[in-house]
Amino acid sequence: MATAIPRTLVLKCDPESITFSQDEPIYSDSETENAIKTAVQHLTERHVVAFPTETVYGLGALALDATAATKIFSAKGRPSDNPLIVHISSPSMLSSLLPPSYTPSLAYKTLMHRFWPGPLTLLFPANPSCVPSIITAGHPTVAVRLPAHPVARALIATTGIPLAAPSANTSGKPSPTRAAHVLRDLGGTGRLPLLLDGGVCAVGLESTVVDGLGADGALRVLRPGGVTVEALVAALGGSDAPDGMQPPPRVLVHRRDFVLNSREENAPTTPGMKYRHYAPGVPVTLLYTASAPPDDDDDAGRGAVRCVGLDAFFREAESGASGRLGLMAQDDSPLLARARSEGAPARWLTFSLGESTEPARAAQRLFEGLLSLEEQGVERIYVQEVAEEQEGLAFMNRIRKAAATSLRIALM
Ligand code: AMP
Ligand code: MG
Repeated sequence: MATAIPRTLVLKCDPESITFSQDEPIYSDSETENAIKTAVQHLTERHVVAFPTETVYGLGALALDATAATKIFSAKGRPSDNPLIVHISSPSMLSSLLPPSYTPSLAYKTLMHRFWPGPLTLLFPANPSCVPSIITAGHPTVAVRLPAHPVARALIATTGIPLAAPSANTSGKPSPTRAAHVLRDLGGTGRLPLLLDGGVCAVGLESTVVDGLGADGALRVLRPGGVTVEALVAALGGSDAPDGMQPPPRVLVHRRDFVLNSREENAPTTPGMKYRHYAPGVPVTLLYTASAPPDDDDDAGRGAVRCVGLDAFFREAESGASGRLGLMAQDDSPLLARARSEGAPARWLTFSLGESTEPARAAQRLFEGLLSLEEQGVERIYVQEVAEEQEGLAFMNRIRKAAATSLRIALM
């Protein structure tokens, strides 16, 4: 007789029913309070729990317990050399992870003050006697974030121990921005006993990862994310920045302003890797319409990106497919207009990335669009580029990794 696979328990949480007094949660809704208590019990019994954060849904486990943290890797199928971000609920929880003699730089203090709670992850020297090496993948540093989502913060505060929490998806797939995405991917597999449903994630893609530990004092953005590079620069150099930080530290973006050493650059776990990530089960093609594609962009660097006209693009895409096709683009895109024009909707399913003046909207809808078009059964998803400014930088970072191929379209 086959053994029954344990089902995934889904508990609703209302983020608006949680407020904080000195980092302690106060609930106005008993269903939410009970859901968090159940989740804390699961966590302390060393199980994994999926929960909402403002970036994407996370798959959490006790960060300081190697047995619990190992379950994250097995549930996701994540390579064990990919380090995890540790989530805390208050700045006071931070010191438990770091060497007793360590004091953060003025730049770090400024960033924590300005962006925590929020979608910013900072690298710190790890205290090896308390942070298990499975969390850091053997690095001397630990990545830490204080999330803003009330459910995430309440869960960590009530557990009383930091939680390791990568995105709650099978490794390599798009990150989930709704509880339904998590359930479809990990639910009913026996890998996820409990999921807290706290609605839609407001940021929609992962945190910005910053390394400010270099001897030169520069802040290196290893992964662009929910806190924009423009916001980091403004916080460090703006009128609110502390006087002691003149001149302000430089903010450098990985692959734009610096590369890591060749061993780190080629590691499959480095944010700049060419290793597929964020990819749905159907192929994705990135469409360049305004900017020149980077030299190594197409087909893992196998050649120059081909350029076609608008009509030729639609003709080729339609004749090369037997089923429906997906298109994601910003509202003012001529591609979107064409895919919605008479007759076309029979072949094209479109997904709006919002107005081009609102890159945060494109970022918030990127994974949602990939996952929803995949679920609707399209054969291929075409995604139009967005300008690499503000949240557009993180959008392009993710879609370049998700897309197996790219095309350049001459719109004129
Ligand atoms: P996620 O996949 O969202 O859980 O984010 C984890 C990512 O943060 C890793 O894939 C690394 O890119 C980065 N990261 C985490 N810990 C470290 C660390 N100690 N050193 C460098 N990067 C790290
Ligand atoms: Mg992830």
